[in-house]
Amino acid sequence: MSSALPAVLGGHPAFAEGLPLVRPTLADPTSIARRIADQLASGVLTNGPTVRELEQRVAERLGVTDAVAVSSCTAGLMLTYQALGVTSEHRVVLPSFTFSASAHAPTWAGAHVDFCEVTDERGSLDVADLAARLDEPWPVGAVSATHLYGHPAEVERIDALAAERGVPVVYDAAHALGSERSSQPIGGFGTAEVFSLSPTKVVVAGEGGLVTTNHADLAAAIRLGRDYGNPGSYDCLFPGLNARMSELHAAVALASLAQLDANLERRQALVDAYVSALESLPGLRVIAQREGDRSTHKDLTMDIDEAEYGLSATDLVRALAAEGIDCRRYYAPPIHRQEAYRNRRRDDRALPVTDSLADRVLTPPLWSHLPQSAVERVAESIALVHEHAPRVAAALQARRGDR
Ligand SMILES: *Cc1c(COP(=O)(O)O)cnc(C)c1O
Repeated sequence: MSSALPAVLGGHPAFAEGLPLVRPTLADPTSIARRIADQLASGVLTNGPTVRELEQRVAERLGVTDAVAVSSCTAGLMLTYQALGVTSEHRVVLPSFTFSASAHAPTWAGAHVDFCEVTDERGSLDVADLAARLDEPWPVGAVSATHLYGHPAEVERIDALAAERGVPVVYDAAHALGSERSSQPIGGFGTAEVFSLSPTKVVVAGEGGLVTTNHADLAAAIRLGRDYGNPGSYDCLFPGLNARMSELHAAVALASLAQLDANLERRQALVDAYVSALESLPGLRVIAQREGDRSTHKDLTMDIDEAEYGLSATDLVRALAAEGIDCRRYYAPPIHRQEAYRNRRRDDRALPVTDSLADRVLTPPLWSHLPQSAVERVAESIALVHEHAPRVAAALQARRGDR
């Protein structure tokens, strides 16, 4: 037993200066600034040669015929569903245990969302439940799965099942630029995969996204769609968006992409450090990718067994906040529990695995240049809170009672 107390019981906070959940890693801001200065001088500020270069690099790296840069992953998903002809006559089957934008995009396309279960082990789309839903009569416009935390979804089974039913698959690959399924880069699975370059992701543009596909017609439709649906004549073919990527964002993304492999190595080392520092504690399990797969570890998420650890995930978040450690609970509430979707569901079938996992998850800080010593200090805090779990629970309970 250590003599120190957790901050929530009056001890000294582990990170008095605060430890943020995530920070973007950009190694050489000066060279990015130089490139942006050149762009400003050239007068080409959007959808120009830097965007082309980014698209080409990404297509090469991921081994796909087309990469289309867009202003965000959400916009990329919206345009993809539109281009696939998904409308209000369709439902899109997707998990609820993911980020809200996975469901917002088909909803903007007019479709209904049909929330599917995930696996208890890693929150990955449950293929058996997907199969059962595809057997139901209402037309399915598309299936979507998320490569959650960068851990590849069960792409072979999902793609085979969808192909059998003639349904397109749109992967939400927001977390997965750099992930690999058995040495195959994420990017070429399904009908399309859609990545995010927003600041909390591993490759960042500031704001941005990428749609990758091996279907040239789909890529062409998304290129049109990101530009209002305007083929150049101002006689728009369909109501598109302005979802172009600016040259400035593409410059940031290219610099970030160049660091990707180095950052993935660092993240794997940090995850390994978290795992080895936490493995002796009861009731804590780091959710891992399948063996043989490569994950970006966009997030490290732990599954907390309240009975074993001594506190719920929610209480542990509070106890760690007192230490100055910023944690989240990805993904709680799951989408089907969010206000926006309460009245939009096709049915009110229970999602017990999703609900249970959402109650148990905790995501501590992880970013590519996070020092390993910080990981060790976070793990020490988690151990200290566990040591004092009954008193911490009582203190948090009393605080809730005060309010
Ligand atoms: C971040 C994220 C998105 C949205 O990405 P934007 O680029 O911010 O639109 C979509 N899906 C998942 C799973 C995400 O984490």
